[in-house]
Amino acid sequence: MEELKACSRCKVLKSATLDNFGFNKQRNKLKPHCKECGRKASRERYSNNRDEICLYDRINARERYKDPIKRARKQVRMRNWFAANPEKREEYAKSKKIRAASNKNPLTQEWVQILLKDPCFYCGNSCESIDHVTPVSRNGTDDVTNIMGVCKECNSSKKDKNLFEFLIAKQKEYLTVFKGDKYVD
Ligand SMILES: [Zn+2]
Ligand SMILES: [Zn+2]
Repeated sequence: MEELKACSRCKVLKSATLDNFGFNKQRNKLKPHCKECGRKASRERYSNNRDEICLYDRINARERYKDPIKRARKQVRMRNWFAANPEKREEYAKSKKIRAASNKNPLTQEWVQILLKDPCFYCGNSCESIDHVTPVSRNGTDDVTNIMGVCKECNSSKKDKNLFEFLIAKQKEYLTVFKGDKYVD
């Protein structure tokens, strides 16, 4: 027998399942309002306080992810999400870098657009993303002097190497190709 439950907000009778109602873990029972009303309220809340929420989130995120445990948890969450949405990975990485690059200096957004039209800084192929010459993970800044336009291939093989390490690795690769050996990292 299907149990019905009236939403506290829209008053519509819906079957009392997790499809229709969120779950309150503390009280160990279904939330009083339906999911649809919950979504509507959060959409409204967001559109009314958009700027404030964005700012708050940004500041909070920065503080939150200084904690190594929280950072690790986020990494796991991101990894799972990307495993489920592999087509989003590249798009996300690109937008994140461009965002990071343009955050600091309003001139940088303009700079990024110019760089993207140039050939790859490392190999001369066409440019598809931007790269921090000294990686952000190693205290590289978003300053214009630390940003270069690069192709997808160079970007993914450089990862978090600094310029010196990257060039050494590239040279090793060329030398071993030259000798006919396969270079194994
Ligand atoms: Zn409702
Ligand atoms: Zn390249």
